[in-house]
Amino acid sequence: MSETTISRSLSVEFGPLTSDLTTTTGATATVIAPFTGEVLHELPLSSASDVADAAASARAAAVAWRAAGHAHRRAVLLKAHDLLLERRDDLLDILQTETGKTRGQAFEEVFQGANVARYYAVKARGILARHRRRATIPVIMQTRVSYKPKGLIGVITPWNYPLSLSLMDVVPALAAGNGVVQKADNQGALSILASRRAFIEAGVPAALWAVVAGPGDEVGNAVVDAADYVCFTGSTPTGTKVGERAAKALHGASLELGGKNPLIVLDDVVPAKAAAGAVYGCFSSMGQLCVSIERIYVDRKVADEFTSAFAARVSSLAQGSALDFSTDVGSLTSAAQLERVTAHVDDAVAKGATVLAGGKPRPDLGPYFYEPTVLTGVTREMACFANETFGPVVAIQVVENEAEAVAAANATEFGLNASIFSGSRRRARALAEQIDAGSVNINEGYRASFGSVDAPMGGMKHSGLGRRNGPEGLLRFVEARTVSESTGILALPRTGAQWQRLAPLMLLVLRVLKGVRRG
Ligand code: NAD
Repeated sequence: MSETTISRSLSVEFGPLTSDLTTTTGATATVIAPFTGEVLHELPLSSASDVADAAASARAAAVAWRAAGHAHRRAVLLKAHDLLLERRDDLLDILQTETGKTRGQAFEEVFQGANVARYYAVKARGILARHRRRATIPVIMQTRVSYKPKGLIGVITPWNYPLSLSLMDVVPALAAGNGVVQKADNQGALSILASRRAFIEAGVPAALWAVVAGPGDEVGNAVVDAADYVCFTGSTPTGTKVGERAAKALHGASLELGGKNPLIVLDDVVPAKAAAGAVYGCFSSMGQLCVSIERIYVDRKVADEFTSAFAARVSSLAQGSALDFSTDVGSLTSAAQLERVTAHVDDAVAKGATVLAGGKPRPDLGPYFYEPTVLTGVTREMACFANETFGPVVAIQVVENEAEAVAAANATEFGLNASIFSGSRRRARALAEQIDAGSVNINEGYRASFGSVDAPMGGMKHSGLGRRNGPEGLLRFVEARTVSESTGILALPRTGAQWQRLAPLMLLVLRVLKGVRRG
């Protein structure tokens, strides 16, 4: 195994990219290329004191960035949008090589990253504009709200969608006038650094967005301690620790965590059409996607037809490592992921589940390849019944009606994403209101909501706290400041005698406001 066999076949060199990390330790971690098992590169690692230095520099750079104003930030972010698109081929190569995903799923990341850059470039000024709010007593008081950037935002990201998940936090943080210190997962650092280059060349000061890498408990903790607000994306157990640490320091946090996402197939679907749509929702990035579907509840009236069409489609997916659009599914990202997926499937089969498609590793394709897998007969004794597999494994269960489907979909500690397939979008919309999840997709697995950058994305229950995307995703990064003033037209009561005279008038104001239904 030679160190850079893969990188030599690409147009991108990794060395110069990792020199952008803030690190002084001299320590490195070996990163493996999932498609082949080769050593991809040696990633320089940071320490807690590197994080502190990066944080101080980013805070200092944020002063001028904030003063430069919205128009400047808008121009820089729009330029970064263009550079991301211009460099898409390099970015797709890096994303595929680092994560093992297909070109199409890598493209989703670049598309989403550019989409987010444009959205916040254009929208930030309006969302954060100073504006009037209703004062307690109109005429004699006026109230305005303005927003102040929090200062320094800590961003901690996982390996599965390194480019898009980073930009969904970093771009709004920058658009609001903050600095950023980001901790990359070892397996996603190159994708982050390559996309960051587009922003630096577009005009984001290099110190304003620092990237560090290293062990979660040292470097991750240091990011939480240094920042005024933390965006964490990752597993529920780690997110819980991050949330506790942030709360102790009274730092705000948004936590984007795991899921066990359900898909409901109603009795009015065309089964083959529904099956074709559902497959993508289960196996994108080999199911290593927080919003990926792992449970399907299908109405008995269409169950046989749906299940056989679904299994047939899954069995015919083209799997491989091509750095072009010729494959439908790629590889798992690491040995740990292969181990987890294998353990879930083996456990289910040992306890009586039936494999309708897949169910085996594919060492002939590469060290971490595993077949997209469809199970039936999954029961609560099996590890994959309630726990997130975070892999290409979906369980199909037959239900008698939509009430049973909704109850089963909601019977989980998670509440991230859900999907409903129906011949009637109106019926599906009504049902969506009964689902306890931060997003519900109709006749799509996850892409409709994930791509809607104007709408909030996040989880209920143990799937997280807070929302990214939309105005909600920007307002995380600012402090609201209320400025209220007395107009001087009429003084508020100060003495007992004045209270006696004005109290009846103030009561009248309350009654009139209620009478005209003013909030
Ligand atoms: P993880 O929790 O193991 O790691 C996530 C990040 O946290 C990594 O950068 C890691 O180094 C860092 N980290 C580890 N320990 C830490 C600590 N003590 N303090 C601070 N940081 C620490 O998760 P993962 O395996 O990388 O990602 C998979 C999980 O992420 C899945 O559960 C998936 O559902 C979830 N996820 C959620 C979303 C979402 O938007 N809700 C998106 C992608 C992934």
